[in-house]
Amino acid sequence: MQLRDALWLVDDVQAANVYIIGTDDGAVIVDSGIRGSAAAILAELSRAGYDPAQVRAVVVTHAHVDHIGSLPELQQATGAPIHAPAGEVAAIRGQAPLPHPPGVYGRLFAAATSLMRPAPVKVEHALKAGPSVEALPGWHVVPTSGHTLDHISLYQPDRQLLIAGDALANFGGLRMSPWPFTSDMRRARASAALLAGLPLRSIVFGHGAPLLDDARLHAQLTALAQRSRYR
Ligand SMILES: [Zn+2]
Repeated sequence: MQLRDALWLVDDVQAANVYIIGTDDGAVIVDSGIRGSAAAILAELSRAGYDPAQVRAVVVTHAHVDHIGSLPELQQATGAPIHAPAGEVAAIRGQAPLPHPPGVYGRLFAAATSLMRPAPVKVEHALKAGPSVEALPGWHVVPTSGHTLDHISLYQPDRQLLIAGDALANFGGLRMSPWPFTSDMRRARASAALLAGLPLRSIVFGHGAPLLDDARLHAQLTALAQRSRYR
C-alpha cells in the first residue's frame, strides 16, 4: 500500500510491518517481517515499480524475529547489502544470541522466538547515527535504544517523517512498545523523549497503523514522553 510519495507499507505480512522507500536510483527495504514474508515483500516491491535488482539496501531496525525473519530470502532475491544496528550484527550473523528482555518474561520471549529464528545472514554494514546509509540520501539513522539496546529508527527531516521501528507503537493511539518485549524500559522512555524533540508530522511503526500528516503528533509524543517518565 502506498502511504506517501516514495513510501510503501507492505501488504499481507504477518506480525510486524515492513516498509519500502523509493530513492533516486532504486529502493530500500526497512525490516523483513517474520520468516516466510519475502514473497509479500517482493510483490509489494513489484507493485511499487521496482525489480529485486533495484533494491540498494535492506535496513534492520532491530534483531527481533518479527523484523529479521525474511532476511535470508531477501538477500538471496535482491543481492542488496544488509544494514543492521552495530550491537546486533553478531546475532543476525548467527554468532550471538538474539536480543531479548531480562527476567522471567525475557527468558520466555527468548525460548518462544528461538523457534522462529532465521538462518544466519551476512551483514555488510553496521548502522551509525546520522545520514550514514549511502543508499538513503536525506534520511538519518537515529539511535533509539530501549526496545533492544541497539535499536535504531529512521528519520527524514525534509518530510518530518519517522520510521520508528519498535521505539514506539500505535495500538489505539501512540504508545510505547509493551514492556514484556522491551529490553530496557527506562532507556526506551528516554528515546521517546528524544524523538519528541524532533519536528514530526508523520510516524510509521513496526506495529500498528501509520499516523500521517498529523499536526497533533508532536504534542501527543511529548505527552507520552512526559507520562512515561513517571511509569
Ligand atoms: Zn521488536
